[in-house]
Amino acid sequence: MTRQGILIVVSGFSGAGKGTIMRELMRRYGQYALSVSATTRAPRTGETEGKDYFFKTREAFEQMIRDGELIEYACYVNHYYGTPRAYVEEMLAQGRDVILEIEIQGARKIRQQFPEAVLLFVTTKDAQTLRERLAGRGTETPEAIAQRLERAVQESEGIEEYDYLVVNDELETCVEEIHAVIESEHRRIRYHMELVNKVREELRSFSKGE
Ligand code: 5GP
Repeated sequence: MTRQGILIVVSGFSGAGKGTIMRELMRRYGQYALSVSATTRAPRTGETEGKDYFFKTREAFEQMIRDGELIEYACYVNHYYGTPRAYVEEMLAQGRDVILEIEIQGARKIRQQFPEAVLLFVTTKDAQTLRERLAGRGTETPEAIAQRLERAVQESEGIEEYDYLVVNDELETCVEEIHAVIESEHRRIRYHMELVNKVREELRSFSKGE
């Protein structure tokens, strides 16, 4: 019996370290399928097309929307970000666990379409750490950093909509916690109904004296 794939949404404030966490999770646990999003924002130094993002023009992105190629998309600090449908559907059909690293509007749309998706929120232990990481990364202008912090205020209002909270204090602990959450999800009764029904049938037969 192949186990059913679970859709996992990981959100978190910009600068909370989601990227690093995802890379480490993938390195340790090769079984996860990490969805690569499409975006209209420019690549940062070191980012690769097709690995970090599919970098699109606004026109190309809007065409993807019209063609129904995205499961969800959102506008974040003046740019579009969206999840390509085909990869997610293919991986889930193969029984793989699929991870979407997306922001809160996208998370909400995923929850509507996939009520059984698991929503996980990553935070730093305080706001100061967040600001230092954002500034220290050196990838954004002071203006963009300010916009991202402003966005973090809004996102913090929505944390209760998530199922799990992970504090990114120590990378290793954080990665193991995420893996443990996913493993626990796999133990939900709803993913084991075939076995449950088989055992039920067998018990009925026994009690009938067969
Ligand atoms: P960044 O520009 O730092 O790579 O990403 C900015 C924000 O967009 C992050 O919160 C990230 O999780 C989110 N994001 C990345 N890809 C997607 C996507 O496909 N859909 C949505 N809704 N958000 C995304």
